[in-house]
Amino acid sequence: MKSVLVIEDEKDILELVEYHLAQAGFAVLKAPDGESGLELARSKKPALIILDIMLPKMDGKEVCRALRASPLTEWIPILMLTAKAEEVDRIVGFELGADDYVTKPFSPRELVLRVKAILRKGESDGTHQKGIQRGNLWIDIDRHHVSINKRPVTLTSTEFKLLVEMASHPGRVFTREILLDKVWGYTYEGYARTVDTHVRRLREKMEDSEEYIETIRGVGYRFREATEEGENSPAAEG
Ligand code: CA
Repeated sequence: MKSVLVIEDEKDILELVEYHLAQAGFAVLKAPDGESGLELARSKKPALIILDIMLPKMDGKEVCRALRASPLTEWIPILMLTAKAEEVDRIVGFELGADDYVTKPFSPRELVLRVKAILRKGESDGTHQKGIQRGNLWIDIDRHHVSINKRPVTLTSTEFKLLVEMASHPGRVFTREILLDKVWGYTYEGYARTVDTHVRRLREKMEDSEEYIETIRGVGYRFREATEEGENSPAAEG
């Protein structure tokens, strides 16, 4: 049974979400504030965390940052709840490394669908291959670990899935819509911006190796086809 940790101070929402998650077969862990939520996440390592932004003691943004900063919890998918519909909050959610967000008021059924989609994607990513080597980039699928020139790169679970999806098929062009479907598992309005934001963050983290991910203007993205260091390069021919 997979466990989902819900960090939310509004009792009614907490109980509603708990009820629907339990109905869907999840074990539910609950925390009424950020501090105890973070503690539970570290000790229980749930399969997914639903995190409200406005929380007592430690707000959702701080909790998100703390979760992403620790190797113990950085891999746990985070779905953020936000009271405001403003774009800024949504972007902030992604800037912080959350995998997804839902705007309040939300339908509990929709929330459960999102949870399932995130978890399902995580599973299917892990079953196909164990590792991907592309030039100086190494992706260890089982251990959810990425390194460039043997230096570890810390990615959120969404960034990891994006990278695995593209790196599994070098040279293939992925439209934003396809990436959204493959990585998030569903579509919604404004998705192009979501995909762009995550790809931008992924590239930033890849630093000098960001060129692996090419932008195909007006279409989407592609993982560079040329592989080994020096191969097909002018230096190798000369
Ligand atoms: Ca709240």
